[in-house]
Amino acid sequence: MASKGKYEAISELARRRGFFWQSFEIYGGMGGFIDLGPLGTKLKHRLEDSWRDFFVKGGGIYEISTPIINPKIVFQASGHLDSFKDPMVECQRCGRKYRADHLLEEAAGAKFEAMGLEAIDAEIEARNLACPECGGRLSKSRYFLTMFETTIGPYSEAIGYARPETAQGIFIDFKRLYEIARGKLPFGVAQIGRALRNEISPRQGPIRLREFTLMEIEFFFDPEEGCGALEEVEDEVLRLVPASLREKGIEEPIEKSVGEAVREGIIINGWLGFFMAKSKEFMRGLGIPEDRQKFHEKLPGERAHYSAQTFDHEVLLEDWGWVEIAGHAYRTDYDLSRHSAFSGQELRAFKAYEKPRVERVLKIVPNEARIREEFGEKHKAILEALMGARPEDVKGSIEAKGYFEALGERIGPEHVSFRTVEVKETGRRFIPHVVEPSFGLERIMYAVLEYSYSKKGDRIVLRLPRRIAPIQAVVLPLVNRGDLEAKAKSIWRALLEAGLDAEYDDSGSIGRRYARADEIGVPIAITVDQRSLIDDTVTLRERDSWRQIRVRADEVPARLRGYFSGDLDFEGMGGS
Ligand code: AMP
Repeated sequence: MASKGKYEAISELARRRGFFWQSFEIYGGMGGFIDLGPLGTKLKHRLEDSWRDFFVKGGGIYEISTPIINPKIVFQASGHLDSFKDPMVECQRCGRKYRADHLLEEAAGAKFEAMGLEAIDAEIEARNLACPECGGRLSKSRYFLTMFETTIGPYSEAIGYARPETAQGIFIDFKRLYEIARGKLPFGVAQIGRALRNEISPRQGPIRLREFTLMEIEFFFDPEEGCGALEEVEDEVLRLVPASLREKGIEEPIEKSVGEAVREGIIINGWLGFFMAKSKEFMRGLGIPEDRQKFHEKLPGERAHYSAQTFDHEVLLEDWGWVEIAGHAYRTDYDLSRHSAFSGQELRAFKAYEKPRVERVLKIVPNEARIREEFGEKHKAILEALMGARPEDVKGSIEAKGYFEALGERIGPEHVSFRTVEVKETGRRFIPHVVEPSFGLERIMYAVLEYSYSKKGDRIVLRLPRRIAPIQAVVLPLVNRGDLEAKAKSIWRALLEAGLDAEYDDSGSIGRRYARADEIGVPIAITVDQRSLIDDTVTLRERDSWRQIRVRADEVPARLRGYFSGDLDFEGMGGS
């Protein structure tokens, strides 16, 4: 593994300036939990808003909020109770527990996600792996359910789980949401919220948390229709590592436009491709270069139980290598089918035909008198079984074998005849299919901090994209003098009134104050000096270039708004 240089530098800055730090610090801290400080919290809000602006607004996508604690039935239906588990080994000397596949990954530098317990044990033995902390012997591996379990109310039998993804809340609400969407597909439902996973041994700061924030969309569509939006993105070139190549041992990405990848079946669904392209564009807008992004397909054995195809959207980080920041899964009709079966509720969509269709349907016509006569008491049950079967199956069996078996009895041509009738069908009922883009906010926040972290001499400059900078501007009186301070404060208040996130800073030399602002990524510093009192102008200084321009004080709020909405560049703010 690379040196911890960058991660340590960012963590140091994050603690000192209030982006994030380990939770429960005064009690010694606990792995897998972080607190966001004042700047981190603002940055989180900015990232959520950017995500909403990019994915949710105007895109036929509704945002909802559902509970974190869910009753057990939800995760029985979703399959998580059976499948949401990780392999674990325990040190037999010191008792420390480790995620077995991660231990192997660190030792061998390859992924071991798809392995069963026996294969993991064999691999650990072959590599002679011991406890990384004390060198003790490791136990055999076993599965550990990574959902947090609790009880709901005072009744210990009412078991609940903290959600490991926000998606289930959306699936459960499908019926209502479909009505809200006026019965039309496709539409998407977004949710931003906390998810909890009882990770076995999280040791990577904000990368592997036990409580984190997901930004997810479940996008519902008719599987018989193509992706109506693929055209918008089809030329976007993605760096893909398809499972078909991984199976041959190739982990190098290939470059393909989304259009090609969908047409060639590398990405098996158009909507999946659409969101992957958007995902890349979103991350590029946050300052992650294209060649530091790739989409890594999971092998069938590595995929979550609900997915027919999954691509991890990965970003290259200096200390952690390629890290998944978003998962793109084609969940098919799996979740809705399961919830429909477990709840007994109809979760299908209805699509009207343009004109009602007349369809020819085969019907069974039982000879009831003969059946009653021959099968006596059993005749009712036999009739029911017969009428519940597909007429095509009954007819086919009688034609092939001379009889159809119902409840152990042979039903022959003397018991039934068949008739074809014409039926008017007004539409089709089906369970919608779903693709899911799922983004981990804290990982994105860390990646964004890493890519914006730069040094100018010995100074840190955090080149955060201006859209997400937690503090947009800082107002600085050049020296501490009553008249300059009063002027600076009035400009600061005008900025706040204009809805800008501005701060006022008069402590320390101007050089130190510029350095402080650069370090937390404030895009614009506004300096009020002697000349400001004479001609009512101030200096605007740009964080990344350190260029300065002079602007009339009363025009600053409007100019800054133009700058932050992207309408003006820095030089443009100086124009009259
Ligand atoms: P998944 O459902 O496992 O694909 O997770 C969706 C996204 O959540 C991932 O792409 C990550 O960005 C994020 N994520 C998953 N597990 C964790 C974790 N333990 N800590 C922080 N973020 C996570």
